Amino acid sequence: MGARILSDDDSTLSVVGQSTYMDGVSLEAIAEAAGTPAYVYSAATIRRQYTRLANALAAVPHRIHYSVKACSNLSILRLLKGLGAGVDIVSGGELYRSRVAGYEGSDIVFSGVGKTHREINEALDAGVLFINVESEGELALVNRIAAERGTVAPVALRVNPEVTVDSPHEYIRTGEKGDKFGIPFDDVHHVVRSALSMPAISLVGLDMHIGSQLSTFDPFAAAMSRIGPLIREIRAMGADSLEWLDIGGGLAVTYDEEDPTDLNRFAAGLAEAVAGLGVRVVLEPGRFLAAESGVLLTRVLFRKRSGGRNIVIVDAAMNDLIRPSLYDAFHRIEPVAHAVRGVNTVDIVGPVCESGDFLALDRDLPDVNPGELLTVSTVGAYGYSMASNYNSRPRPAEVLVDDGRFAVISAREDYADLVRLEQAALEWRIP
Ligand SMILES: *Cc1c(COP(=O)(O)O)cnc(C)c1O
Repeated sequence: MGARILSDDDSTLSVVGQSTYMDGVSLEAIAEAAGTPAYVYSAATIRRQYTRLANALAAVPHRIHYSVKACSNLSILRLLKGLGAGVDIVSGGELYRSRVAGYEGSDIVFSGVGKTHREINEALDAGVLFINVESEGELALVNRIAAERGTVAPVALRVNPEVTVDSPHEYIRTGEKGDKFGIPFDDVHHVVRSALSMPAISLVGLDMHIGSQLSTFDPFAAAMSRIGPLIREIRAMGADSLEWLDIGGGLAVTYDEEDPTDLNRFAAGLAEAVAGLGVRVVLEPGRFLAAESGVLLTRVLFRKRSGGRNIVIVDAAMNDLIRPSLYDAFHRIEPVAHAVRGVNTVDIVGPVCESGDFLALDRDLPDVNPGELLTVSTVGAYGYSMASNYNSRPRPAEVLVDDGRFAVISAREDYADLVRLEQAALEWRIP
């Protein structure tokens, strides 16, 4: 029987007979083995996205540093390492993970607006490619720590290009005037002068990250119209070691009907924007590499009607997937079994005690019954990595599908995990 592909040619899911498969593996079988809710990732989709991006950028000297916060599981990090990726990290915890997954220091760039003394030390211990510095205070601290260690820290300055970008939610716009990220554009010359005067700082690059889910090169072009001339000015100020331009992440995927980033146009725009600048480009895609690879498998618990609304209660909640509650995000939701049946307009909600706990509102869904499995699509990025234990709910299992096989890559938490760090007998101290 031929496979019917859901929605488009690259879909991670296919329907064979009346059931849904990921890369040849039955989602029913995975739910049976791993339980629900469970995140299920397609290795093939991650490889496809990485290869596409790398191929499109062939003409631009570049490195792809996966943004670990999108999906941080060691197996996903190892998969990407095998493809040639480096990583972009935003915490000491992500540095630790990346090292455990086998990344060398030189595969790592360290971003983030509030690095601690400890994290800066750890970055220098690891020998990271560079630290993206976001303020003058951070620059001074990195200089002091590196000097104490008798080393020179490789630093890229994160510049806020102060461009207005059109991304779907204000929480994922990060490059506008007044944002907490980066060095305000008007201060950059001053901070560069400081960096050049510091004995334990080597200014190796400039960095930006202007937002997420950006479907065209236009916002990058707007930023580059400010960053390009800046690179020339900084070189003229004596920064001979400037080698990298880190353009951050932000490449878009399709959740509903949005256009994904047109990679050929993006690559052409990037090639034009960096022509003659003499820099190598670092990209930090997270969502683009991981989002489409993942589905959340969840089971219907109950149905009810309330105040004229049809409510479908499932076993996944906002603690498992917070994007709908936090960003108003849309995720396609479909039954795993594809029987022909009527459609209802429903709210799909979880068991958490919050009205904000929903996976979808006012959604047309085939008439599903308690016990049925549903897929919530495009959750590979910012899904499990944002999961919490709210309502003392153990975090779900994570499963990787590869080449007709599947493996649990993160066990479902159990109740004992919930209280593991809590003390039974208190050790009172008097300060
Ligand atoms: C979150 C983040 C990224 C990844 O963004 P995506 O939209 O997932 O590509 C890259 N760089 C930095 C500094 C980030 O904070």
